[in-house]
Amino acid sequence: MASSSIAVMEQGTGAADAALFRDIARYAPTMLWVSDARGAMIFLNEQYLRFTGLTAEQARSPTSWKEQVHPDDREHAMRAYVDALADRRAFSVEYRLRRHDGMYRAVLDLAQPRRDSEGGFDGYIGTTFDITERKAQEAALVESNRAVREQSRELNLLYELKSDLQVCREVDETLPVLAKYLGRMFGERALAIRLYNNSRDLVEPFLALGCRTPLAAFSPERCWALRKGKSHFEETTAFGPVCPNAASCGGDGALCLPMTAFGECVGVMQFDLGAGADSVLVDALQRSGQRVADEVAAAIEELKLRARLHHQSVRDPLTQLYNRRYFIESLAREINRAEQGAAEFAVLMLDLDHFKLFNDTHGHQGGDVVLREFGKVLVRTLRGGDVPCRYGGEEFAVLMLDCPPAGAWRRAEEIRAAVAAMAIDHHGTVVQGITTSIGVACFPADAGNVEQLVARADDALYRAKKAGRDRVCGHAGTDAS
Ligand code: GH3
Ligand code: MG
Ligand code: MG
Repeated sequence: MASSSIAVMEQGTGAADAALFRDIARYAPTMLWVSDARGAMIFLNEQYLRFTGLTAEQARSPTSWKEQVHPDDREHAMRAYVDALADRRAFSVEYRLRRHDGMYRAVLDLAQPRRDSEGGFDGYIGTTFDITERKAQEAALVESNRAVREQSRELNLLYELKSDLQVCREVDETLPVLAKYLGRMFGERALAIRLYNNSRDLVEPFLALGCRTPLAAFSPERCWALRKGKSHFEETTAFGPVCPNAASCGGDGALCLPMTAFGECVGVMQFDLGAGADSVLVDALQRSGQRVADEVAAAIEELKLRARLHHQSVRDPLTQLYNRRYFIESLAREINRAEQGAAEFAVLMLDLDHFKLFNDTHGHQGGDVVLREFGKVLVRTLRGGDVPCRYGGEEFAVLMLDCPPAGAWRRAEEIRAAVAAMAIDHHGTVVQGITTSIGVACFPADAGNVEQLVARADDALYRAKKAGRDRVCGHAGTDAS
């Protein structure tokens, strides 16, 4: 310890005090330093010297401090010191200071001006705190805050995605919703969704965002994510790609996540991260991507289930035509619509002739085949917007939209002729000679409400039966029949 520096402390004190202050300065469990009025170091305590590994001599050399400061921090640390010195005011500054082991530690300098006996500026007395741990804690806190914010942003987006998906009525309506939210969640990252087809022998393209090439369908056995039932990150090895499907999923850096809903895999979601993706990103994307993949899977499955239930509720299982309930509902809707405009439409009632005979000859199963084929003839002969339905047993009804009476009669005749020409192969036996009787009733020409219209068509059918079957009739009182 230089005597000049100790002399600074001894000013104005008794010998006992001087010894006490010397000890305080020397052994204080913090780094202390004192500079003179020109900024030169005149004292550095034991703690400081131990930290830097310098001798007192070295530490007091004019260039010593600067050399100990991290090169990137030198300018701002020097500036803080020089600026404060110019104004002779207190200052604080953070920088990195080299320790005896060569490691740079974050430190905080706090310095107060010293006064001489006349109260003039006489340099600084300062402390240097090692704040590396505190800085690390601060950085960890900032990082954890950022992670929490990121997680809550993700959860909010996921919640909004889920809500919007719940509003969708059909699977295809989910496409713009997914494009909107997945774009926000995963930025510009290219991603694709493929879904199993109905027979589950292919996964077919459903959604592509930012993909370099058009998506192709592939067999599920080719996809490692689907084979494993869990995520697969594709990296090309010396022996080539791991997943045989890699080329069609972006190759190196493809992260593929199976999409699972209600315990069943419904497809695969894949991110194209490019070669050399860092593992932290892959892990994060795998976590958040899997949550999204499963939410999307659940939404799509629910829509498919809803569509299946709707189909079942409006369709006849044997012929796949509409059922009677749907027919009556459509008829009521059409009458409602017609009342507000000048629409014309028609109802056909159809009944297979002597159908009991077909059952007796070919068995009930043979009869079912005839009913199914009859349904196909109806669908083939009618226009797309018409509503063919199985009314019950071997009776059928058709609602023909935007159809004047002449059109309805012509179409009914076409159906009759097509049915008469049917020849069905049933277990090697050709079933033919099938005929149908058809009753026609038109709105508004024949009736003004649902019950009346159906009754008129029934009446017309009864007349066709009575007149010898295999023919088209109107109700009693219609000239056309
Ligand atoms: P008609 O020309 O007077 O209509 O004679 P029909 O034999 O067709 O009439 P009927 O009402 O006497 O008999 C209808 C037959 O349709 C009896 C019934 O077994 C059959 N049938 C009704 N529903 C089904 C079905 O779902 N499958 C089969 N195979 N037969 C059915
Ligand atoms: Mg019949
Ligand atoms: Mg009948």
